[in-house]
Formats: sequence, structure tokens, C-alpha cells
Amino acid sequence: MTQELGGFAALGLNPNVLAAVIATGYEEPSAIQLQSIPVILAGHDMIGQAQTGTGKTAAFALPILSRIDPAKKEPQALILAPTRELALQVATAFETYAKQMPGLNVIAVYGGAPMGPQLKAIRQGAQVIVATPGRLVDHLRRDEKVLSTIQHLVLDEADEMLKLGFMDDLEVIFQAMPESRQSVLFSATLPHSIRSIAEKHLKEPKHVKIETKTQTVTAIEQAHLMVHADQKVAAVCRLLEVEDFDALIAFVRTKQATLDLASALEAKGYKVAALNGDIAQNQRERVIESLKDGRLDIVVATDVAARGLDVPRITHVMNVDMPYDPESYVHRIGRTGRAGRAGRALLLVTPRERRMLQVIERVTGQKVAEVRLPDSQQVLDARIRKLTTSLSPLVADAEASHGDLLDRLIADIGCSPRALAAALLRKATNGQALTLAEVEREQPLVPSAGAPRERRERDGERSGERRAPVPLAEGRVRCRTALGTRDGIAAKNLLGAILNEGGLVREAIGRIQVRESFSLVELPEDGLDRLLGKLKDTRVAGKQLKLRRYRED
Ligand code: AMP
Repeated sequence: MTQELGGFAALGLNPNVLAAVIATGYEEPSAIQLQSIPVILAGHDMIGQAQTGTGKTAAFALPILSRIDPAKKEPQALILAPTRELALQVATAFETYAKQMPGLNVIAVYGGAPMGPQLKAIRQGAQVIVATPGRLVDHLRRDEKVLSTIQHLVLDEADEMLKLGFMDDLEVIFQAMPESRQSVLFSATLPHSIRSIAEKHLKEPKHVKIETKTQTVTAIEQAHLMVHADQKVAAVCRLLEVEDFDALIAFVRTKQATLDLASALEAKGYKVAALNGDIAQNQRERVIESLKDGRLDIVVATDVAARGLDVPRITHVMNVDMPYDPESYVHRIGRTGRAGRAGRALLLVTPRERRMLQVIERVTGQKVAEVRLPDSQQVLDARIRKLTTSLSPLVADAEASHGDLLDRLIADIGCSPRALAAALLRKATNGQALTLAEVEREQPLVPSAGAPRERRERDGERSGERRAPVPLAEGRVRCRTALGTRDGIAAKNLLGAILNEGGLVREAIGRIQVRESFSLVELPEDGLDRLLGKLKDTRVAGKQLKLRRYRED
């Protein structure tokens, strides 16, 4: 039996949008999607409180696409995102969900790319514009009618937008759109500034928030690993080498991901199967039976497919993809630690999902410790440990049954016992890397997402090198001025000047480093040229500031 279309079919989405969602492999809506989609489809304004990782992009993209008329060649929906990275990500999501809507075009509009082609795409009738506020205002300066046909507006990560100093730009953008539009605001937090935007520009908005009840988790040791999305499979393989598990369940979000990860693990020699909503019920039961009796050691599953799965052998839960909400996290990790046994839960976190990790920690009231990716030495030690464990029970019997044969082989081949044992070992381990050099060659170190800075700093200390620059937050760039302490400058002078003359809010300005002959200031990337223009004639301590973008390479 194929899995029902979950709750997506019941939400009233346009059939073409629904078909694309199903093709994407999503099995059921996340909590924020369940609540937001009907509200947005009904045309209400809405405030959604949700962070990255909850499925919020689809929560607004699916209903908005359902309300767009692809036959009308004019901009109908505007999505504002704080950074270029997020704008591109959201635009890609829209394209995915609009795959079965011929004639529907999406354009991403952000700073750092030429303006001409962006404006051309808008004029040619892209129905969805995904933009960063700074660049969009630049377009409005050239053509104030650009947004005159917008019927749906989404502010994505509104709190981040304000942190990057986009308040004024947002006002300009609001004024350029028809009042009759629908407005939706998503934000992880709702500080006063966000509430006042909502009061001013949204009409009787409905509030959608995923309630998080405090949950308790006992007897389960939890850890997380920071990793980039494209390195997840490599990271899972590496972790599995050192984790001492009996049976393990790995959670991913889509059917395709169950298949991809299962086949990667199978190639590494694990006894593994995928479990997803497309797998017939009787086959699913067989997989669970095999996990119970040890014919399988790993199952890669979606949340839907793992429902009701209760296998006492499971010692480990690996959250390869982040769950949508803390409840589902608690539910997932509850698959281990059954019947009073100890269990271990590992969570892979991409840099954008840090916030979700904090929410999980808050709701469960427990710290989820950070672990680093095992290095080659640890992988090698684990392999040798496994060999020792698997060989030691055999030696006594094996000598009795195979000792004579061994003597004969040594004589026939004319080699030493050590050489023969080494050859047998190589054969038994299928040529697995068992020296440090081999292991290093086999898996070049994939640094975990949180690691590079620490490593650089450590190496720097050891060799006496200059410390590497602190990585920039997303959406920020470093700017340099030739003014420093020798000019009588302190950080607060720079801060004051930039706040006053640049019209930014404090949160928009990142770290300020003042050195003897120069200073560095972190500023929002989007709208940077305009900001530097505003600061062109600014003087600090009687001297020209002359702030310029600082090229790090
Ligand atoms: P977001 O919170 O919008 O950044 O989404 C996080 C990730 O979840 C993205 O990779 C989406 O493709 C994925 N996703 C969103 N909704 C679903 C769903 N209903 N089922 C499975 N994956 C989803």
C-alpha cells in the first residue's frame, strides 16, 4: 500500500502545486505548514513565528503559488529576505514548487549582480520576485512602478532584516505596493520593532505560532555536530565508524533522502534499508522485523514511515535532517533508550539551523553537547578495536580447527606466520584502510561547520602566525578606514558617526576593530554602496572617514 498523500492533499492547494510537492518527496506537512497554509490560502494577512528548519519557506510558498495566475505576465508576489543566500534559497524553493506550473517565472533580485538583467526579468513578467530590500529599493529608484501589481507580500526572517538595518528600505517598499495586497510576516522572534511594522502595515493579521510544550528526555545521551548540508553523508559515514551501536535509526526528511543515504551506507558494507511512505506496508513490516532480529542494523526513515516503530535493539538515533519542531525531535529520539536501556541521539546541524538547536535545548531543558567529526586516528582506532572484538572470541577454536592447515600454507607458500596472518587479514577486511596514511587518503578531513575557525586559531598559535580574521556573519562585509588609534579614534567614535550619518540601527553594525593605522567595521552587504555614498563626506575626529569595502584576499 502506498502512503496516503498525508495532510497535503487536504489543504486545498492548487493541484499543480500539490503535484510538485508530492514529486519533491515530502510526506506530510510540518506543523507550521499545517497552520499557515489555510490562513494564507484564505487571503488573510498573517504573522508566523517560526525559524529556519521548521519548513517555513513552503508554509508561505505553497499557498502563494496557489493564488498566483501564471497567465498574467506581471509581478504578483514579492518575498523579501535579509540576505542574498536566503533570497536564492527561497527563489529555488519557489521554482521547485512551481515545476508543474507552466509559464510561472521566479526572479531573485539581490545586490552584487548587475541590475539590468534583473529589471528585464521583472518587466518580462516574472510573477514572483524574491529580493533583498536594499537592491529592491535601488530598482524602485529607477522605476517606481516595479511593484505596482504586487498582490502578495512576504517578509521572511523579518527580525534579521531589521538587524541588518533595512527598516527605512522596508518603508519605501511598503509605499510602492498596492494597499489591497495580502501581507505575511515570518520572524523567529517578535521584538517591539517587528510588532510595530505589523501594526502599521498588516491588516488584522492572524497569528500562527507553534506551541512548544516542555518535554522531558531521560536516559538518552544527546550530542550535535555542526556540518554543511553537502557534507552530511560523509559526516554520517565518519560518525558511524566510531559510534558503538547495535541498531540505529537515521531520520531524514524526504523519500529520496532515505534512498540516497541507505545506498551510500550499503556501499560501505552496512546492513541497511530505507523506510519511507512509498514502501508497501508488508514490506515495511519486513524491514522492522529484520531490524529486530539483526538482519539489518540501520534503517533510514522519514518521520511518517517510522511511526510506531518500537525496536528495543535500537541504541542510536541519528537526526541527519533536523526535525521540524522540538516535539518531533523528542519523539524521534524516544526510539532509543527503550525498556530502561541507555540510548544515544546524534543531531546534525547546518549553520542556518543553529537557532532550531537552541529551541530544542530550551524545550527539553537540556544542553545538547557539541561533538567534532572524528579524525583519521579515531577512525583507525575504532576499526582496530572492532577487529579485536570480532577476532578474539575466534582464536582459541580457530587454532584447533585451522592450525594444521596454517602450518601447511606456511610451508607451501614459503612465508612467515606473520606474513600469512597479514594476508588473511587483508582478505578478511576486504582491503579496508588499516594504517593512518591509508585512512587519511581514504577520507580527507571534512571539517565540521563549526571547526575551521578553531583549527585556524589553534594552528596560528602553534606556529606563531598572525591570527586568521574572524568569519563574517551572513549578509555582512568588512569595510576599512585608514583612521586608527594614532588618529585618536576609538570604536565608539566610528560607531557614532556611522549610526548618525548612515541612518543605521545599532544591530546593523557588527564588530568594529580599531588598530593603530586603520580600522575595520562590519556592515550590511546589501545596500552597501548607498551607505558608503551617505558616509562619503563624514568626518571623525576632524578627519575624513573614507570607508571602503575591504577585500580579504
Ligand atoms: P525551511 O524551514 O523552510 O528552511 O525548510 C527546511 C527544509 O525542510 C528544506 O530543506 C525543505 O526542503 C524541507 N521541507 C519543508 N517542508 C517539508 C515537508 N513537509 N516534508 C519534508 N521536508 C520538508
